[in-house]
Amino acid sequence: MTISYPIVETFHSIQGEGFWSGTSAFFIRLAGCDVHCSWCDQKETWPLNKYPVMDIKDLVAQSLLANSPMVVITGGEPLLHNLAPLTESLKKEGLRLHLETSGSHPFSGDFDWVTFSPKTFKIPDQSIYSRADELKIIVASQQDLQWAQEISAKFDDNILKYLQPEWNSTKLTPIILNYIQDNPQWRLSLQMHKFLNIP
Ligand code: SF4
Repeated sequence: MTISYPIVETFHSIQGEGFWSGTSAFFIRLAGCDVHCSWCDQKETWPLNKYPVMDIKDLVAQSLLANSPMVVITGGEPLLHNLAPLTESLKKEGLRLHLETSGSHPFSGDFDWVTFSPKTFKIPDQSIYSRADELKIIVASQQDLQWAQEISAKFDDNILKYLQPEWNSTKLTPIILNYIQDNPQWRLSLQMHKFLNIP
């Protein structure tokens, strides 16, 4: 049986956010998101059925061709899909796999690194809490700092914690910086790719 996924785009760039910032990465952006963050910068990814589907074998071939140290599965919300068949095929080729998710659906797939970016617009599924390697909270209002505290309390001290200003809410940056100075277990993440104007 051929398994396929609706794909918004695939591209080779650098990881612009979080712990792996600046690292060469091949991105697979899956279609579909039902979280509907009001400030989402990827609203075009929300529809599930608007995009062409790609077979796993083609996604594997593209990933290998990119010859990048990591393949990042992103969206949209990738956990809307069963990621197990895709990650199994990519892993068979020895590829390192990263996931970017809001955790709003049950976890699936086999990943080397999971970026958990929960959103107040849809409460995360419990299955994400044992899988996340880094926590990234997008800060669009001061209430998001409270949300950051609540979510981080569900993890032990080893999880990497990032606060990232929402791209259009830069007036909050001084508040975030003050928060990090007072709470140094948190780090700042900026969307490096946006400053560079690259995908
Ligand atoms: S979870 Fe991500 S893709 Fe979905 S609405 Fe929020 S920011 Fe956009």
